[in-house]
Amino acid sequence: MDVEKERQLLRIRDAETDDLMAEATVFRPGMEPAALRSIDAELRERGVTAADLNQYVGERPNLLIDAHGLPWQCSFCKQPAESEGWGWHWMWGRVPVFPRWFRWCRTHVPESKSREQDGESP
Ligand SMILES: [Zn+2]
Repeated sequence: MDVEKERQLLRIRDAETDDLMAEATVFRPGMEPAALRSIDAELRERGVTAADLNQYVGERPNLLIDAHGLPWQCSFCKQPAESEGWGWHWMWGRVPVFPRWFRWCRTHVPESKSREQDGESP
């Protein structure tokens, strides 16, 4: 097995199930076929069913799509982004340095995007 393929398998084995579900569904058009085979196999091994994947997609009807038709990724994790807006880039998680455009998944979206101090450290 070549090094690149081995590295890919290790990444898949270490990945969060939610992240693999995102790759197998909403990010699928941008994934390599070989990687997808490994991801699908890993999900089966973890007990994820087709119904689970359908549910994952169904719960995310309003993804932000880029110019290539693929969902944007959250600025803070590997999940697809569902909202976007300005926030502060924080240094050391304490000092707001400059305003930045962020994309957020459902986990990382600020409670109120309208407030100025809504930035979050990655
Ligand atoms: Zn996120």
